[in-house]
Amino acid sequence: MCTGCSACYSICPKSAIEMKTDEEGFQYPEIVGSKCIECNLCSKVCPQIEPFVALHNSTNKYAIQSTDEQLRALSTAGGFFSVLADYVISDCNGVVFGAGFDGVDIVHKGTEHKDDIPDMCGSKYVQSYLGDVFSHINDLLSQGRCCLFVGTPCQVNGLKKLVQNNKNEHLLITTDLICYGVSSPGIYKKWINFLQKKYKDNVRRVVFRDKSYGYSAPNTRIYFQERKHIEQNYDSKSMLRMFFAGYNMRPSCYDCEFRSLVRASDFTIGDFHSVGDQVPGFDDELGTTAVWVHSEYGKEIFELLKQKIRWEPVESGLSSSISGSNKILKIPKNREEFFLDVKNCTYEQLTSKWVKNNLKSRIVNLVKPVINKLPLKKHVFKLVKKYKQKKYEKRVRKANEGGHS
Ligand SMILES: Cc1cc2nc3c(=O)[nH]c(=O)nc-3n(C[C@H](O)[C@H](O)[C@H](O)COP(=O)(O)OP(=O)(O)OC[C@H]3O[C@@H](n4cnc5c(N)ncnc54)[C@H](O)[C@@H]3O)c2cc1C
Repeated sequence: MCTGCSACYSICPKSAIEMKTDEEGFQYPEIVGSKCIECNLCSKVCPQIEPFVALHNSTNKYAIQSTDEQLRALSTAGGFFSVLADYVISDCNGVVFGAGFDGVDIVHKGTEHKDDIPDMCGSKYVQSYLGDVFSHINDLLSQGRCCLFVGTPCQVNGLKKLVQNNKNEHLLITTDLICYGVSSPGIYKKWINFLQKKYKDNVRRVVFRDKSYGYSAPNTRIYFQERKHIEQNYDSKSMLRMFFAGYNMRPSCYDCEFRSLVRASDFTIGDFHSVGDQVPGFDDELGTTAVWVHSEYGKEIFELLKQKIRWEPVESGLSSSISGSNKILKIPKNREEFFLDVKNCTYEQLTSKWVKNNLKSRIVNLVKPVINKLPLKKHVFKLVKKYKQKKYEKRVRKANEGGHS
């Protein structure tokens, strides 16, 4: 059930815990017996043993869009993260921690510079490497610095537990994601190696959810050092298809308490796919963030941000429109076989067997760029989105009626 949040690694006074990568490519803590003094702090801080429970009276829900259109385009949804990051750096002299790139690796890092925000924008659907980020935040809080941490709900819960005895804990602003789950960094590396070999060029950056064709028709876009970028449709043989099929997910993600709607954070952010149903004026194909404001601190900050964003309060229907808040992930029956293949097969063999490019996805790949050239493209993509949304909601309803969580 370990989520790899690294709270135990960060709290150990003897550095007796190392984060080791397992065969599936995920990190787990390992105790170096000779260094351990059995203080038990690692168990006490573990959010899986005892989660951090925040007492929030009420949660306010909003649809928001950044007014900086360049940053909104770089963001996965409406760019709320970039607005918050700008506030923390410019108005609080604080430090922002989010997931960005180290080469092509996905890592959490901190910055005090606005120029670094674009690197952290956008969802990277791979578990991020945390390294010493939690200890760094704890130290900065002790020095009286304001910090913003954005990450998955399990990461935020672990961080809240780590800093709960810090006298300046109130200087920490946390934002967690509506989270479907995280995929294996090991398989991500395998995919990158495959692409580099195939295209004989180094991958520079991956935009996991590119919005060039609009918010309702996302692509994965891969940028190389020398050659032009390539695109992979969501439905095609990509790493993301394995992710959404649930194969390469971290084991703890299948039965995750942290992705429920009771959060430890000040803010929760997610994709607002169905915003057109509630705020038609926001359905502009450039993305909208669903923002939940939980804490009193979060509400104070949100009041200050209102003048910098387009926002509308929303009432209901949000959770059903967002997959990550519904616990419908089932462990695929053949997950073990999948990971055996990861070990023994090439990337091409793996995708051919597990996420075959069927006729439908081939047609979508061919037709999408053509539709993109039509003057009515927005309407076509919106219709497709509506159809998919209805199909998804039907699936969730069926799963709930069937009784599995
Ligand atoms: C693994 C994952 C699963 C998600 N699942 C869902 C879902 O099921 N439903 C839904 O509505 N939304 C989901 N999201 C969130 C969504 O894609 C958007 O990130 C969110 O809507 C915020 O968008 P934004 O435009 O405001 O900010 P963005 O600019 O998109 O900011 C994204 C923020 O997420 C952080 N981040 C990016 N990748 C990671 C990562 N791998 N680990 C930790 N933090 C990361 C970045 O640091 C940044 O602060 C998921 C995101 C991730 C990373």
